[in-house]
Amino acid sequence: MSDTGTSGDGGTSEGSFDDLGLRPELLTALSALGYEEPTPIQREAIPPLVAGRDLLGQAATGTGKTAAFALPVLQRLDADRRTSAPSALVLVPTRELAVQVSEALHRYGRELAARVLPVYGGAPIVRQLRSLESGVDVVVATPGRALDLVGRGALKLGEVATVVLDEADEMLDMGFAEDLEAILEETPEKRQTVLFSATMPRRLDSLARRHLNDPVRISLGRERTEPGEAPRVRQTAYVVPRAAKPAALGRILDVEAPTAAIVFCRTREEVDTLTETLNGRGYRAEALHGGMSQEQRDRVMGRLRAGTADLLVATDVAARGLDIDQLTHVVNYDVPSAPEAYVHRIGRVGRAGREGVAITLAEPREHRQLKTIERVAGAPITVEKVPTVADLRARRLELTRAALRETLLEEDLDRFRVVVETLTDEFDVFEVALAAVKLAHEAGGATDDDEEIPQVGFRPDRPDRPDRTDRAGRPTNRPADGRGAGRGGRSSGGPVARLFVGAGRDAGIRPGDLVGAITGETELGGRDIGSIEIHQRFALVEVPESAADDVVRALRATMIKGRKATVRRDRP
Ligand code: AMP
Repeated sequence: MSDTGTSGDGGTSEGSFDDLGLRPELLTALSALGYEEPTPIQREAIPPLVAGRDLLGQAATGTGKTAAFALPVLQRLDADRRTSAPSALVLVPTRELAVQVSEALHRYGRELAARVLPVYGGAPIVRQLRSLESGVDVVVATPGRALDLVGRGALKLGEVATVVLDEADEMLDMGFAEDLEAILEETPEKRQTVLFSATMPRRLDSLARRHLNDPVRISLGRERTEPGEAPRVRQTAYVVPRAAKPAALGRILDVEAPTAAIVFCRTREEVDTLTETLNGRGYRAEALHGGMSQEQRDRVMGRLRAGTADLLVATDVAARGLDIDQLTHVVNYDVPSAPEAYVHRIGRVGRAGREGVAITLAEPREHRQLKTIERVAGAPITVEKVPTVADLRARRLELTRAALRETLLEEDLDRFRVVVETLTDEFDVFEVALAAVKLAHEAGGATDDDEEIPQVGFRPDRPDRPDRTDRAGRPTNRPADGRGAGRGGRSSGGPVARLFVGAGRDAGIRPGDLVGAITGETELGGRDIGSIEIHQRFALVEVPESAADDVVRALRATMIKGRKATVRRDRP
C-alpha cells in the first residue's frame, strides 16, 4: 500500500472553488459544508453564470447541478438591496424539488442572510402570500403555484434578474409548457435565463431558442472513455432511500465480506458521520478527508497497512493517489457526480487480474445518472435488491460453514476429542455437532436482531404532479400524468426495440395500460417508452433496446388489464 501523492489540502489545488470567482461568504459556506472541490458541472457552469451569461445545461440529479445554479444566483444578490420583490426565480417540477432547492439555497446563502421562499401547490397559500409580502430574494416555485401567485398580484416578477428552469424536461412533460411561457412573459426581457435538464427533447430546444440569449451550452456524460479503460469489475447498484443508507451499507458489507474496502462520500461531513456510524455498528472504519492534517492521514494509512482497519471512508480529493494493494471493494455511498469520477474510483480495484467489486448506493431519483455512468463506463451495472435479513442469515451460516470446513481441513483437533466422547454418552454425535456449530456461529458475532431494510426501486421518471390550481385557486383538469398528450419525445434517444404484446383493443387495452404496466414493473419511466400502437388483437410498444429483455420478462410475469399476455420482441 502506498499513500504517496495524496493531495491533502482539498481547498487550494487547481480547480478548487477558489478559482470560480465566488464571493468569500459563499466559499465559507461551502467549506463549512465540507465540499472539497467543485463537481464538473459546477466547474463549467459557475464562471459564465457569475459573469451573467445565459446557460443551457444538460445534467441529471446527482451531478451537483443545484449548487451550479444556486451559487451564481446568490453571488448576484445585491447585499444592500432589501426591496420586497424577488431578484431570482427558480422554477421546478415538483414540490419535493422546490423544498430541496430552497434548502440548498439557504445552506449556501447562510452568510449572506439570503431570504429564500419555496412555493408549491398543495401547501396553504395564505402563508406563502404573507412571506412574499414581507420580502424575499429568491423564490423557488412549481409553475402552477407561481402563476397562481402572479395572478393574485402577490408574486411580482418585474425585478427578477435571473430565472432558472430546473429539470425543464420534467416540467414540459408534466404539461407546464404554457405556464412557463406565461411566467417568463412576466419577467424583464433583460434577465439572465438558466435552463437545466436531464434530457434535451426537441420541444425543449425550441423553448430554449425563444427564451435564452446566446447561451453557454454544457453537456455532461458525453465523454467516452477509451475501450478497455474501465477495469473488469463486478458492478452492482442498490436502490436505497437516503435514510436507510447506513443500514443498507452495513448489510451489503456483511454479505460481501470485503478484505478491504474504500467507501467514497461527497463531503467531509459525510465521511465523518459515516465513519462514526460504521464504527458504532462494529466495523473497523477510518476516515480520510482533505480537512485532516498530514499526520492524521499518515496514522490512518498506518492502521490500514497494519490491518487494524479494513474500511476506509474517504472523499475523492483525499483518496487521490492512494494505491491500496489488498483493496477488493469500492463503494460509492452516493452516485458520483460525473461518470469520469466513477470510472476513476472503480479503477482502484480489479487490477492485475484480481476480482474487484464496485458497489453504488443510488437514491430512487438517481436512475438517469446511473444510466449515464453505465454508458460512459461501458460496462453494465446490475441493479440488485438490498440483501434481506434472510439473505444475511443465510450468508452468515455459509461463512460459519466455510470456517468450520477450513478448521476440519487444517487443524489438529485431537485435543477436543475427549469433549465429544464424553458428550456422546448422553447425546447423539449429530446433536453435539449442531451445538458446536451454534457456538462457532455466535462467536463469529452473528446476532439475530437485524432490522429489515425497505426494498424500493427507482422512481419512475415522471414524478407525482403537485396539486395544480388555476389563477383563481381552482383545481385544473389537465390529464393527471400528461399521458393523454402526444407521446412524441422519448427521453434517451438510443437504440429502440419493438415489443409485441398479445392483447389489443379486443381486450380493452389502451396505451395507458401498457405505460402503467411497464413503468410499474420495470425501472423505465414514462418518457423512456416510445410509440405505442394498439391493434385489434395485439399491441406494439417501443422501449430502449438496453431495457427490452427486462421489459419482456417483467410483462410476462405480470397481468395487463387483468390478464396474462404473450410478450416478445417483435419480429422485424
Ligand atoms: P444535485 O445534483 O444538485 O442534486 O446534488 C447532489 C448532491 O451533491 C447534493 O447532496 C449536494 O449537497 C452534493 N454536492 C453538490 N456539490 C458538491 C460538491 N462540490 N462537493 C460535494 N458534494 C456536493
